[in-house]
Amino acid sequence: MPITVAALRETAAAERRVAITPEVAKKWRGQGLRVLLERGAGESAGFPDSSYPDVEFADADSVLTTADLLACVLPPTDTALAKLREGAVLVGQLRPYGAAERLSAIAARRLTAFALELLPRTTRAQAMDVLSSQAGVAGYRAMLIAAEACPKFFPMLTTAAGTIRPSRVLVIGAGVAGLQAIATARRLGAQTEGYDVRPETREQVESLGAKFLDLGVSAAGSGGYARELSADERAAQQQALADHLKVFDVVVSTAAVPGRAAPKILTAAMVAGMKPGALIVDLAAESGGNCELTRPGERVRQDGITVLGPLNLPAGAPLHASEMYARNVHHFVDLLLRDGALQPDFDDELVSKSCVVRAGEPVFRG
Ligand code: NAD
Repeated sequence: MPITVAALRETAAAERRVAITPEVAKKWRGQGLRVLLERGAGESAGFPDSSYPDVEFADADSVLTTADLLACVLPPTDTALAKLREGAVLVGQLRPYGAAERLSAIAARRLTAFALELLPRTTRAQAMDVLSSQAGVAGYRAMLIAAEACPKFFPMLTTAAGTIRPSRVLVIGAGVAGLQAIATARRLGAQTEGYDVRPETREQVESLGAKFLDLGVSAAGSGGYARELSADERAAQQQALADHLKVFDVVVSTAAVPGRAAPKILTAAMVAGMKPGALIVDLAAESGGNCELTRPGERVRQDGITVLGPLNLPAGAPLHASEMYARNVHHFVDLLLRDGALQPDFDDELVSKSCVVRAGEPVFRG
């Protein structure tokens, strides 16, 4: 009996992605697996049921009671978890930090669950790296939202009605999302600068044709990430940044420290010192925001400055976001399969470090 790999229609607000695309379903069928989807699972991502070759469809309850492995984009609801077959494997972005109740619910079903956000950022893990694939989409979308909301053109224009100066754009946090935001601002013709506390980002920002804003604060942490700034470092950063902020029309902020609330970088006073009509798009809104004024999911106007806190940006480009996400999941699930059966090798650090519940035992110590 082949194992059944399954996905539901995602139910989180405004979520349009799907964890299994036609391309990946085909690959799993080629590997001899059974693929089962809730009817309409891919519809909002641009994949109607008819686009899935050789896949079975059922209602959500039947999917949950028959799946050997359930792939998800965001954590299933408590109701869905309670129906998932005991002993099944759950793979997806499970948002494990500060989610003790959800992890207990997963354990109570005696599931084995893998939170893909916990995969070590090693070279071997690149093909499964959902943080990178989805952050790239988020960075791209954030800059398009900024361009749309900005009262100015991004590019320089020489017209019969005179010359239009290009917008000046600053991207704070030059990780995966920030670099894609920089690349997008450059493609739109803005005069673009990037800033980060990890020194190695200077070269990456410059390689995109943007200028690196050096504020003299360096905070490289472990695993390629930034560490949290000390109070003194934060004060130095804010003082240096406040002077520079005055020249920018648009600030896109993407700064994050894994497992922690987003660092507060832009104070209300700094925002008040920006140009009238300036715009901040705070991509860190979901984890508290980089700006003191950010309200997740809302638009705030203060002192003539607009602060946007958009949520779940990857869902705004659901087709490509799903394609990349599903490929990430496919590569990860390969690690769990041996001879067509689900037999995760817990000696492999990609398996052990992403596991949050193992056969009903909570193992995440976040
Ligand atoms: P992230 O989303 O955790 O953070 C975004 C950015 O915010 C980071 O560049 C970080 O340095 C920056 N930041 C944090 N605190 C800041 C502050 N106070 N001020 C300004 N900037 C601040 O990071 P991410 O984009 O997921 O990835 C970070 C890095 O991980 C990558 O750039 C890369 O070096 C590494 N990585 C490696 C691989 C790989 O080798 N497989 C894959 C992806 C990422």
